[in-house]
Amino acid sequence: MSERTILSEQTIFRNAKLADGSLADFFVTGGRFSAIAPAGKAPPADFAAVAPGTVDPAIIDLDGQLVVPAFVEGHIHLDTSFYGDAWRPHIPCTNGFDVRERVAFQARNLAGAAPMAERAKNQLELCVGNGSLVMRSHVMVDASVGLSHVETILAVREKYRDLIDIQLVAFPQSGILSSPGTAELLDEALKLGCDLVGGLDPASFDRDVNGHLDVVFTLAQKHGAGVDIHLHDGGALGVFQVEEIAARTKALGMAGHVAVSHAYGLGDIPADAVAKAGAMLAAAGVAIMTNAPGNHAFPPVAALRQAGVTVFSGSDNIRDSWWPYGDGDMLNRANMIGYRSGFYEDRELEAAFDVVTRAGASALGLADYGIVVGASADFVAMSAQHVPEAVVAVPKDRTVYRRGRAVAEDGKMG
Ligand SMILES: [Zn+2]
Repeated sequence: MSERTILSEQTIFRNAKLADGSLADFFVTGGRFSAIAPAGKAPPADFAAVAPGTVDPAIIDLDGQLVVPAFVEGHIHLDTSFYGDAWRPHIPCTNGFDVRERVAFQARNLAGAAPMAERAKNQLELCVGNGSLVMRSHVMVDASVGLSHVETILAVREKYRDLIDIQLVAFPQSGILSSPGTAELLDEALKLGCDLVGGLDPASFDRDVNGHLDVVFTLAQKHGAGVDIHLHDGGALGVFQVEEIAARTKALGMAGHVAVSHAYGLGDIPADAVAKAGAMLAAAGVAIMTNAPGNHAFPPVAALRQAGVTVFSGSDNIRDSWWPYGDGDMLNRANMIGYRSGFYEDRELEAAFDVVTRAGASALGLADYGIVVGASADFVAMSAQHVPEAVVAVPKDRTVYRRGRAVAEDGKMG
């Protein structure tokens, strides 16, 4: 197919049920929504005029299926999953949870694993099959693996760029100050093409909050990169670091480019303290990522949203050395967030859905997102009456469309 034909390829999608319950037709040209109209209308004149006679528009009847924007997988680890590889039983830490010990287990497991590019592909296809077409992956950088993970995952991103948009975070899995040479490796990773610089528990891991954040934010400023920090520290120690990150973000004018992943501390504090921290995060433009893990207090999603904070989500670990769970399905993740948050009302279920769609797009800084004219025609059609039902039922019969073309059906890639 010639380049001109692809650019002018036109498709009409009939009878899509939108989140507001109305039926609409989509007119897609060159992979983008060129018009969205109430169902049953004739194509707009400019739709037919884009490339008359080049290709007859294909017509797909969505038959009243619920149609939603593609999901946003906001936090995953493409380099360390064993999904599709041999099952590796979980090894418990010997004396309570310990990140260093887990990293050692991970190194042992990875040494015997299938090639990283193959495992990353398995995980990508799992996510796309479930309807995620945008992803942020953290990629391990430390003295033991150097830039090898980054180089492999950059190549994977390039190979699958037509299928899914991927942001990469240079992630200091073994700390920064306590792992000599890591700051330089992070700098190199950003030069190679990572979009964001990561961090890891500045207080409990590196035991130097300012020293750790100095490196992270200096590198972000140097490269015009975003920041997304893993912060597992709980209680007041965790909240203190959240506030330090917010203060730096505000001082550097980086609103909308900084996220804190996990931020468990926000789940440990009383409502008035959450409101105070939430106001600070909202004013600074710092987003919070939670995957609503089963064994931790986690940030209160409704209270943070109420304070104006962008709360997004991700699968985090899938079948790796940290835990055996994860299915790459962000609709199921919305279900878990709603379940663990005690969300029952429709507006609450819609909020859980927003976390894995619109709010995720906002946290990732995506300008080109949603079922709107001009956006890439990336959407999911599924059998559900409406969004609240989709969140509780998690229907698996879905069709995933990337740039107006079906790429996955019922969880499987086409
Ligand atoms: Zn993570």
